[in-house]
Amino acid sequence: MTIKNKTKIALITGGGSGIGKSICLRLALKQHKILVVDLNLEAAQETVDEIENQGGIAEAYAADVSNNQQILALFKNIKEEHTIDILINNAGIAHIGNIEQTKESDLDRLYNVNVKGVYNCISGVIDAMKAQKSGVIINMASVAASVGIAERFAYSMTKGAVLTMTYSVAKDYLADGIRCNCISPGRVHTPFVDNFLEKNYADNKAEMFEKLSKSQPIGRMGTPDEIAALVDYLSSEEAAFITGSNFPIDGGFVTLN
Ligand code: NAD
Repeated sequence: MTIKNKTKIALITGGGSGIGKSICLRLALKQHKILVVDLNLEAAQETVDEIENQGGIAEAYAADVSNNQQILALFKNIKEEHTIDILINNAGIAHIGNIEQTKESDLDRLYNVNVKGVYNCISGVIDAMKAQKSGVIINMASVAASVGIAERFAYSMTKGAVLTMTYSVAKDYLADGIRCNCISPGRVHTPFVDNFLEKNYADNKAEMFEKLSKSQPIGRMGTPDEIAALVDYLSSEEAAFITGSNFPIDGGFVTLN
């Protein structure tokens, strides 16, 4: 059997760091053109530079996924030149605390980025995907989406919404040839983790890193490249039979804890 993966246009949010950056670099190896969207233009441009260094094609865009007008304007501009085939809703932020430690402003901030950000980006591409009768949407949730994580009230709640939004979109646009799936990583070693340790455990970072790693059933954190490999498969034509699914990739966190 031969599987053909034609060159496509892939847009990745939060492509300037961590998991999003690995996804950009990996999809670029498929000869897809990569549109890197990030709040941080400099970081997005660094990803573009790395893609170009490995012989790929990419463009950097600065945008805040939580800003509806900004995102719709950005997608409108992009659509004048490109038809987006693959949308990876990866940008997301975290907050630490139970419900008592979560201020209304924390909840609004997480909702706006993690939930409304996904809604904004899907709204920006859905008409074009419908018109071309094909498209792939992958949303980055978390293990927190299905089991909740202690002291991560707002994060768990918003990632739960990403998961159910995935099911809803998959059902609504199945007949239009659009596949929508969700990935739920466990702990992955990205700058987010390093920044967290720097901020909260500056004096004993290495010890806390070890502790965090050992607290995963598999005994280590995941790598951004491991998540990118799953995105690569789900966005390929080999995964044409897969839609409306959630993929935990968590070293056994959900089932073996
Ligand atoms: P990261 O902090 O390393 O990178 C996130 C990127 O998103 C950054 O470049 C940041 O500038 C960008 N971003 C943040 N807010 C944005 C906004 N409003 N608009 C546009 N861009 C924005 O994070 P990461 O660890 O790579 O996480 C990526 C995704 O994976 C997130 O959705 C996160 O919730 C999810 N996730 C991460 C882990 C983990 O352990 N790292 C586990 C499960 C799920």
